[in-house]
Amino acid sequence: RDAQACIAKQASRKNLNAFISLAEKTAVLKAAEDADRGSVQGPLAGRLIGVKDNISTSDLPTTCASGILQKYTSPYDATVISKLRQAGGIVAGKTNLDEFGMGSHSKHSFFGPVVQENGDNTMRSVGGSSGGSAAAVATGQCWAALGTDTGGSVRLPAAYTGIVGFKPSYGLLSRWGVVAYANSLDTVGILSQSSVDSKQIFDVLSGYDPRDPTSLPKSTRARISKFAGKRFQRGPLRIGVPAEYNITTLSPTVHSSWISTLSYLQAQGHTIHHVFLPTTKQALSAYYVLAPAEASSNLAKYDGVRFGTRAEGPDGATSVLFSATRGQGFGDEVKRRILLGAYTLSADAIDNYFIQAQKVRRLVQRDFDKAFRSPNPLHEEEIDSGEATENEGVDVLVCPTAPTLTPTIEDLDAQNPLDAYKNDVFTVPASLAGLPAISIPVTVPEANEKVGIQVIGQFGHDELVLDIGSIIE
Ligand code: GLN
Repeated sequence: RDAQACIAKQASRKNLNAFISLAEKTAVLKAAEDADRGSVQGPLAGRLIGVKDNISTSDLPTTCASGILQKYTSPYDATVISKLRQAGGIVAGKTNLDEFGMGSHSKHSFFGPVVQENGDNTMRSVGGSSGGSAAAVATGQCWAALGTDTGGSVRLPAAYTGIVGFKPSYGLLSRWGVVAYANSLDTVGILSQSSVDSKQIFDVLSGYDPRDPTSLPKSTRARISKFAGKRFQRGPLRIGVPAEYNITTLSPTVHSSWISTLSYLQAQGHTIHHVFLPTTKQALSAYYVLAPAEASSNLAKYDGVRFGTRAEGPDGATSVLFSATRGQGFGDEVKRRILLGAYTLSADAIDNYFIQAQKVRRLVQRDFDKAFRSPNPLHEEEIDSGEATENEGVDVLVCPTAPTLTPTIEDLDAQNPLDAYKNDVFTVPASLAGLPAISIPVTVPEANEKVGIQVIGQFGHDELVLDIGSIIE
């Protein structure tokens, strides 16, 4: 189905740098023909799907856009890739990203930045870190793509490229074979042209995986379906508008598209309610303590001995070899995260940074639980004892995905690392709480732009979030 058209686009939009490696053309076309003839079946039969290059595939390299893994090919497929293939999906290629998923503009890549055209010969950011996946879907180089979202890396690129980006609840999709950035936050996410397409892929990928210790077991999945997903049968939804997201630096165009989305939902019969998430202000800082801390520990294994390219010259298992390998192999942003993480975990700093950030994380989770009508299915005892009941809270939250419109490459050149971190202010709270969240492109006629509007649901309410996404779309 349109495989030929995707392949043509991959050639004509090569300048965007969306892919690091492409699947072999004849094999892709043959697989697509098999699907057309009906000899391959499944919900994704014949669909070309781009895969972020931090998700392991046995037939193409998995570089994480890092110099240190530039020649690495995994001996196995990640669980999500096996599931895609079983459903008839075709891996189109591996998409470019910020090295190891660290960044918000897909410019920190060993293979060069990903960009999108602005229409006037200038270039714009595609967002990050799953920017290659977003650019590939937005320009028709594949039907849909997988990304990973640790603190917004699927939602932000979707918002900046005008497509749909869905981050499921933490633990629903297997992380086995997904290269870890920050384990407690990492989720596989989906980039597509519509919520319906995302749902189709989500249904294929969601499931318990015994090889991933954080995969939600069947009992939790059963508890989720007890409360989630039945909203539409019960009449109008209660839509929450978090006051803390109305920040002074919010772009006026983003603000007006937020308001028009809320008016539209109201016109459909749903009701709008103000909610308060007081810890939102601390969430970003907590994220940028926790994520680098986990990263510094995860990246310790790239030492030139067990994984990755080894520096020329020094030999033997000495610190000289390690530091030469890591010094040459990692890019600047990754080094910055390792330093940050190693510092906040150090004996002198851990109490003031890491421990505090973990406390903030609990408060962020509590804010959300207070706001939602449904109880959190992770609070097993309360639910199983029948203690948990629905309250006067809201069904979902609706807010912008990013505070500004898509920045130009020129804008980025004027930014420091902290400015880039600030882009994630609206996406990290849902990540800290593990909640499902989707970014939907909303057209703003007066600005000739698409703005990403985010829908966040209670843990496990992934289907509701996808359904509301398709109402807004
Ligand atoms: N921009 C955030 C970071 O750099 C989010 C990254 C992600 O979700 N992978 O950490």
